[in-house]
Amino acid sequence: MKRFVIGIDIGGTKTACALVDENRVLSGARSFPSDPELDGERFFDRVAEEAGTLLAGQGFDCSGKRPEGAEGGAAEIAGAGVGAPSFILYDEGYIIKTSNLVKIRDFPARDYLSKKLGFPVVIDNDARAAALAEYRHGAGRGFDNMLYCPVSSGISSAMLIGGKLFRGSYGWAGETGHMIATPGEGVECGCGNRGCYMSWCSGLMIVKHIKQWIDAGGQTIMTSLAGGRDRIDSIILEKAYDSGDPMAIRAVDQMTRWLGLWFFNLYVSLNINCFVLGGGLVKMGEKLLGPVRRVFDQYNHDERPVYFKTAALETNCGTIGAAELAWDAVPAKNGENDVE
Ligand SMILES: [Zn+2]
Repeated sequence: MKRFVIGIDIGGTKTACALVDENRVLSGARSFPSDPELDGERFFDRVAEEAGTLLAGQGFDCSGKRPEGAEGGAAEIAGAGVGAPSFILYDEGYIIKTSNLVKIRDFPARDYLSKKLGFPVVIDNDARAAALAEYRHGAGRGFDNMLYCPVSSGISSAMLIGGKLFRGSYGWAGETGHMIATPGEGVECGCGNRGCYMSWCSGLMIVKHIKQWIDAGGQTIMTSLAGGRDRIDSIILEKAYDSGDPMAIRAVDQMTRWLGLWFFNLYVSLNINCFVLGGGLVKMGEKLLGPVRRVFDQYNHDERPVYFKTAALETNCGTIGAAELAWDAVPAKNGENDVE
């Protein structure tokens, strides 16, 4: 019988779910806006509801079975995988806290959702889900070890070592954006410290620096481009940079310097030679990545190759990764879903 899993990608603004078969083919997908007002229970009620609608649309009954003779043939749901932007205790399937959906905290998400859906669920951090997708189907294919680094409103990393996700003792290995670069100096980050790497170079944080420079009397076209100081974001920053605005150039210089140092420190601590960069800021392309690479090279005195790649899977990366988490967790049937 054909088997499927549901890949569920919870994002700060949107949550997507899709059915994925054993050949990793996606069929049927749904997405809905992530409501930051919902607490863990309400949020996962909504997830279960959407997953149910997805299943019904593909001919499955509420126990996750599709009968012989239905369109697509007999099939069953083996489980669901969830990627969430949260600090997660992986073994317990427990969400400690969630960065953009702050009301989802201290919540036993895995067991709650599994009870609602009626089949096994596995939940992990979204960066790790994306890392797994890129490692198996994207830019990280062919490498033994890989670091996936989302560079967007925040910065983070997820690591595969010898083909396996490394989670650490409690489950948040890879929160390297919060390594301290300048103790007590700089703007305060959501981690509770001043001077972590993220506080110097993430998309959200660089905007905080820009606002400080403006408040100190600095001149920039970003205020008028955005239609006000409070509306400046990384897209406005890129536009201003392209027109040669000195403050925008200063901001991008600051970002590339700290990103380059961050990558270098990751490289010397882990010696992983494949960096796959994802996230919105990577869309800036060479104007960001070129200088980052130059900073990295300035400190790296070894000739052996280090690969900086941009993520290959765009829109479905999160759901594919969540589905991979599920396939890894469900018992194999006749070895048919053994993965490399
Ligand atoms: Zn931090």
